Amino acid sequence: MGKPTRFQAPKGMHDILPAEIWRWQRLEAAFIEAATLHGYSEIRTPILEPTDLFVRSIGESTDVVQKEMYTFQRHDDSLTLRPEGTASAARAYVQHAVQALEPISRWYYLGPMFRAERPARGRQRQFHQAGCEIFGDPGPTCDAEMISMLVSMFVDLGIGELEVSISSLGGPETRPKYRSVLLDFLRPKAADLSEHSRARIEVNPFRVLDSKDEGDRAAVEGAPSILDYLSDEDRAHWDALKTQLEALEVPFRVSPGLVRGLDYYNRTLFEISSSAGELGAQNALAGGGRYDTMVEDLGGPKIPAIGFAMGLERILLAMGESERVVEPSCFVVPMGEKATIDGLVLARELRQLGVRVDVDGRQNSLKSKLRRANSSGARVCAIIGESEIETGTVQLKDLLQHSQEQVPRDRATRIIADRLLGSTPRAGGND
Ligand code: AMP
Repeated sequence: MGKPTRFQAPKGMHDILPAEIWRWQRLEAAFIEAATLHGYSEIRTPILEPTDLFVRSIGESTDVVQKEMYTFQRHDDSLTLRPEGTASAARAYVQHAVQALEPISRWYYLGPMFRAERPARGRQRQFHQAGCEIFGDPGPTCDAEMISMLVSMFVDLGIGELEVSISSLGGPETRPKYRSVLLDFLRPKAADLSEHSRARIEVNPFRVLDSKDEGDRAAVEGAPSILDYLSDEDRAHWDALKTQLEALEVPFRVSPGLVRGLDYYNRTLFEISSSAGELGAQNALAGGGRYDTMVEDLGGPKIPAIGFAMGLERILLAMGESERVVEPSCFVVPMGEKATIDGLVLARELRQLGVRVDVDGRQNSLKSKLRRANSSGARVCAIIGESEIETGTVQLKDLLQHSQEQVPRDRATRIIADRLLGSTPRAGGND
């Protein structure tokens, strides 16, 4: 037989090992707490959806749909690994006719997303997003609250150097008016644009403003701003959003060139970036906006909506290092057969009181077990050998204070629990 194949995780997709998972859990807990405090409830949708759902909602001319989807055929169905969460949430909203159950729904989600992009720092093929959606509220109050919630959460997570960019894309009255102004501006510049952008002028001129190409950026400098073409209603929405953000003390920058990669947005559009930590070029932490026509486009009623998604990998890079909070725990070291049985019982008693316990049941030397106890991070080590069994005792080693004492076995559970949890361990144990 040849050498066994050493498999690797797919390119751009990463394992998250136990040594780093605590940072993820801390971030997820902070997000869930912020979302819950703002009245959002969790929704979980399948990781696969019909391909057409993303084509329809994200938009045919977007990079995501044109180049980045993981799509496969199964029997007669074309399925796609979700590249983002909003389309699935809107699909679920329509499928379950949620508008008939409540006038406004606030949902949050967390999970992996898939885009076949070129991997770089802060850009993976499988990455994780957490996001919120509000269905049924036309804003702008909920728009301001959503942006403010994100900023407060980032500040609480210790992320500095935040920049909040906002814009308005207007609605059905504004868009065609601005589109023709933008076309008049772009058409004479076609020769200066990249091939990619030139092809998009007529299909989706807004996208040209979003190009990363240096030549394109120079060519679109001085492009007319959509904010100068807002209809009266769109302007009232936009002005109220700014006033409310100011009242909430959210510093923001008006960025009329903000487009973002997805086609479904209208009116409020926002992005939060940071130059903190190890982020580098991929510095957009979160982005979102209104998508007031998506529910209807997917066959549902006319229901306004707004949402955002934040990238967990990028937020973790921006958070930098933080102190790990280690829960106090006990390490049980039994030596010999009888002691092993008693060690198991002691561990069970401790867990019933809410103490974390690791039992080293290997038949190794005392020295090697103590070495593990020391590196385990446990506060207390309980040693049970043959002489402890004979005398009905347990040796307690305090691994922080480097002290040792012998305690009666029938009081050991309570003593350890008191030391690790304070004097009021969880009820229900026996000692
Ligand atoms: P989007 O769904 O494109 O609006 O992106 C929302 C957020 O998801 C971005 O601001 C990033 O933080 C994150 N994100 C998007 N694409 C990726 C990716 N390929 N890798 C890592 N994070 C990403």
